[in-house]
Amino acid sequence: MPTKLRRRYDPWYLTFDKQQGSRVWHQGKEYVMLSSNDYLGLSFHPKVIEGGQRALAQWGSSTTGARLANGSRRYHTELEEALAAFLGREACHVTAAGYLSCASSIAAFTQRGDVILVDKNVHSSIWDGIRLSGATVERFSHNSPEDLRKVLGQLDPAAPKLISLEGVYSMEGHIAPLKEFAAIATEHGCTLVVDDAHGFGVLGPGGRGTASHLGVDTSVDVIAGSLSKSLSSTGGFVAASRDMIEYLRTHSKQTIFSAALSPAQAGCARAALEVLQAEPEHLEKLWANTRRYRELLLSLGLDIWESETPAIPIVLGNKERAYFFWKHLLDQGVFSVMSIAPAVPVGKDLVRTAMSARHTDADFAIIEKALRYAVKKM
Ligand code: PMP
Repeated sequence: MPTKLRRRYDPWYLTFDKQQGSRVWHQGKEYVMLSSNDYLGLSFHPKVIEGGQRALAQWGSSTTGARLANGSRRYHTELEEALAAFLGREACHVTAAGYLSCASSIAAFTQRGDVILVDKNVHSSIWDGIRLSGATVERFSHNSPEDLRKVLGQLDPAAPKLISLEGVYSMEGHIAPLKEFAAIATEHGCTLVVDDAHGFGVLGPGGRGTASHLGVDTSVDVIAGSLSKSLSSTGGFVAASRDMIEYLRTHSKQTIFSAALSPAQAGCARAALEVLQAEPEHLEKLWANTRRYRELLLSLGLDIWESETPAIPIVLGNKERAYFFWKHLLDQGVFSVMSIAPAVPVGKDLVRTAMSARHTDADFAIIEKALRYAVKKM
């Protein structure tokens, strides 16, 4: 049953009539989009659009089937090779959604009798991967290597173990202390799997991700991620050793029983990966915008949950305050998204916002005015 607030404000599943760059239109009114994950702002980049169009013309609309049954296409393997090279991995496997890839990065490599140690704040796709694996699950406190050590100390040292983390947490904007986690994984012989959906393209030299940012590339066994954020497409990937990727291809239900990544999706992602490497100005602009936005939020006394990345929450603390803040921003022409308990811990109800390289000075003027208005009204 929708709550009273939900009935009154109807905040989810809005249908926009038009989108252009950082702006969207709803029922004739224009909004600055402040919640999308188009971090590098490439979704309207001419080369990305051309990449998608070219793939569509060459390969048609879809493979209309799974790769195991219908075969891969050259555009799959080329994208996989490009992603693997970018991430410094031997191999990569792409699927039609980040959700599928991230779930398979856990489910394909674990089974009943194994133990999965997981940060309690990971994304829903990881929880589904864990459930499907049949392995035993042990949670540890968010971003806490100390708690992970404590939990590991109570387990059978002989049981095969996998540690599951995110590189950047999408709601909180926190970066995982991967150095410490990698040391623990090595010490205890655990496989380390990182969902870097929000670190890929954002952190590290040239946007190579969180492991690269923290100098622990070689200690992370598996990197999973999404093509729907910095690469402005849809789809997902798992990158690892050749043996692990071959194993995944024959053991992951998420890929064996699901239709392949479509030509247009792959074409856009491939072009965006090239733009990311050839035009570093997008990453520089993203971080310049992020610093500017962070300072603005902090100067207004807002609680940003110590976010260190372009994914920046505004913590309001309860559902009512989150609704009102979200609605004030909307009234002032800024579209954001609310996340309330149980999607976030109790007391952390928030409005999630995200910076993009595409936000302009004109966008900032609207965002600042809206934030000032919302703060004053609370
Ligand atoms: N992992 C994380 C951390 C995510 O935030 C998301 C998407 N929000 C996914 C996986 C799933 O990616 P996709 O939306 O491309 O399916």
